[in-house]
Amino acid sequence: MSAHRGPRLVLLGKQGAGKGTQAERLAAHFRMQHLSTGQLFRDSAAAGVPAGLEAKEYMDRGELVPDKIVVAVVAERFANPAEVDPGFVLDGFPRTENQAIELDGILGERGLDVVVDIDVPREVVLDRLAARNREDDTEDGIRRRLELYESETKPLVDFYRERRLLVTIDGVGEEDDVHRRVLAAIDARFDPLRADSA
Ligand code: ADP
Repeated sequence: MSAHRGPRLVLLGKQGAGKGTQAERLAAHFRMQHLSTGQLFRDSAAAGVPAGLEAKEYMDRGELVPDKIVVAVVAERFANPAEVDPGFVLDGFPRTENQAIELDGILGERGLDVVVDIDVPREVVLDRLAARNREDDTEDGIRRRLELYESETKPLVDFYRERRLLVTIDGVGEEDDVHRRVLAAIDARFDPLRADSA
């Protein structure tokens, strides 16, 4: 039998839906990596890496980082089979339909296993973001990012539904309860034995 293989996951959801928190818990549960493009850019900007500094200019304005930069960063990570084979959870990528198409190309034949849409109403995410205190969480920045979510990222819900990969879960409630809902949804759709022989 080959090495342990977890699911290949994408988390969708508005800013403040809890993607980062749930992604971390899933990564720990399945012993696989959590890749957050937002966190990757924050870390590389802090380290003075040119692509990170360029990304930061967009992030500070609440704009999306251009696809070219984001896709290059993800493609570079996933060029290493050791990053892909144990499974992974992506959080904050893809964020546009073009990025989703690029991701298909990067992953090749097996593709993704499950896309989890964490559904939380706007009023709830606004309360959570107000409490978060991150540098780009200004009132204007949050409004802009939520607008971009609706216009650029929400179409991915239909994109993945058509590919029969989508599951929507209720993201309101305690972190533990949401975690259990996400796990149950994945378990119902991902068969580790099949993945292992793929
Ligand atoms: P949030 O979900 O609150 O926006 P993230 O950490 O996911 O937080 O993203 C922070 C910022 O990083 C975004 O506002 C955007 O500027 C940039 N970013 C992250 N991922 C992407 C992506 N896939 N495409 C374009 N920009 C991105």
